[in-house]
Amino acid sequence: MTFSPTTSTLDDKTYCAVHPTVETGLKCNKCGRYMCVKCAVKTPVGYRCKQCVNQQQQGFYTATQADGVIAVIVSFIIGLPIGYILPRLGLFIIIIGAIPIGGFIGEIVHRAVGRRRGQYTWLFAVIGVVLATAVAFYFSPAFQAFLMATQANVRGRGEDIPTDFIVTALIEPILYVVLCAGALIARLRLGK
Ligand SMILES: [Zn+2]
Ligand SMILES: [Zn+2]
Repeated sequence: MTFSPTTSTLDDKTYCAVHPTVETGLKCNKCGRYMCVKCAVKTPVGYRCKQCVNQQQQGFYTATQADGVIAVIVSFIIGLPIGYILPRLGLFIIIIGAIPIGGFIGEIVHRAVGRRRGQYTWLFAVIGVVLATAVAFYFSPAFQAFLMATQANVRGRGEDIPTDFIVTALIEPILYVVLCAGALIARLRLGK
């Protein structure tokens, strides 16, 4: 006497593939196995079993471990000259320029990592741009003037420290970095 694997469905009762005692009529729309409410995961394309959802997530993120390092280095190198020049061209240029530049850096990073998708590639690219802009700010005339005045003061020559100037000079790099990072994140997280 043989039982076919479909015996359990003969009496119209079907059971979860993971929990054989739990009756269910719900099927995974990918692999077709029966699953109970606990095993079902709601996805944009319908209910699926946990195995199928896990497999899909692993397939979606294809980045290698080196991609984070590549993203930091590439966005740092491109971000350095841009972070040095752009914040000094005035608010108007920053506002119209920073977003396309962020998209451009995102595109270069995306190509540099072989178009692989990574869960955190965007974060590494943002770190690169922020570091580059901080280094560029350090070497900017405004900050160097501030440093020199501070050092002169320490030596007791009582020069005025241009703190107001520094605050003003900080706003432009910060505005640039926020807009640029936003566009960079949009490119790397939402792009294909
Ligand atoms: Zn499935
Ligand atoms: Zn189950």
